[in-house]
Amino acid sequence: MNHTKVAVIGSLNMDIVVETPRHPQVGETLLGDRVRFIPGGKGANQAVAAARLGAKALMIGAVGDDAFGQELLSALERDGVDVTGVKRLSGTATGIASIYVSEGDNSIVAVPGANGQVQPEDIDRNAEKLEQADIVLLQLETPVETALYAARKAKELGKTVVLNPAPAQPLPEELFRCADFVTPNRTELSGYTGIAADGNTLGAAMRRLQELGAANVVTTLGAGGSAYLDENGEVRLAMGHPVPVVDTTGAGDCFNAALAVSIAQGRSLREAVEYAALASALAVTKFGAQAGMPTEEEVRLFAA
Ligand code: ATP
Repeated sequence: MNHTKVAVIGSLNMDIVVETPRHPQVGETLLGDRVRFIPGGKGANQAVAAARLGAKALMIGAVGDDAFGQELLSALERDGVDVTGVKRLSGTATGIASIYVSEGDNSIVAVPGANGQVQPEDIDRNAEKLEQADIVLLQLETPVETALYAARKAKELGKTVVLNPAPAQPLPEELFRCADFVTPNRTELSGYTGIAADGNTLGAAMRRLQELGAANVVTTLGAGGSAYLDENGEVRLAMGHPVPVVDTTGAGDCFNAALAVSIAQGRSLREAVEYAALASALAVTKFGAQAGMPTEEEVRLFAA
């Protein structure tokens, strides 16, 4: 079988997920209902989602030499992700994300740990992974300079680059120029453009991001679905699918992976966005980020 190859450069985190009846106030101590340790991190989530959606996923990143690091690598391997590009750093903690989940909403504090030490040399060391890839998927939980270096390298190699510019932070415009597809959520889009990304001004914000260098802009809108700019710069909406929401953690990661897999398979932007909407709707119906990623078969059945 000829698998599409997706190189994912990004973070691996252990998600420490606390289920709570409501979110705590500052200074308040609440009794939670349950704690779980679930493999996460935007990079790893996207790699698992790509693998479940039928791609060969090649992960480049870093973990510490602690138990969490080992567990994260094992989780990726169980999903068939190639982890030979993930380095293990001694004396460094694996990244963690502390996540409160209440009634389907989540709030997150992430501590980067080893993720902060993914460097341009790691891209060089794994250059053959980029060469093999059909598409390169980047997010920003690893250093921006590394994302920029990887994006430049990928462009030199003639690869398609998808940049999920999350979490929002100051970025060199060159990074947008190196990206074929830039996929902020609504909040990130406002942050990068200074334009409110809602109602009447969504299109203006998306076009502003295009002026900053992004060849194609796709914005995720939570339960509202997503939007992309067509070849005339007009906003096109892809509706969200009504589903019972269990946990939205990782919905954006699933969307990005599905978009990348679909584009790498030669689909149009409209088709890729529609596929990503189906996959990410399924992702919110299950608990956990990686745990909730649907398979290619599940998406096919949901679409039918
Ligand atoms: P996260 O950071 O939680 O992973 P995000 O903010 O990056 O998410 P969202 O815009 O919340 O991304 O969601 C990504 C996609 O997931 C949406 O474009 C939509 O297709 C799908 N999605 C999210 N929430 C829902 C929902 N409640 N019902 C159906 N689909 C959803």
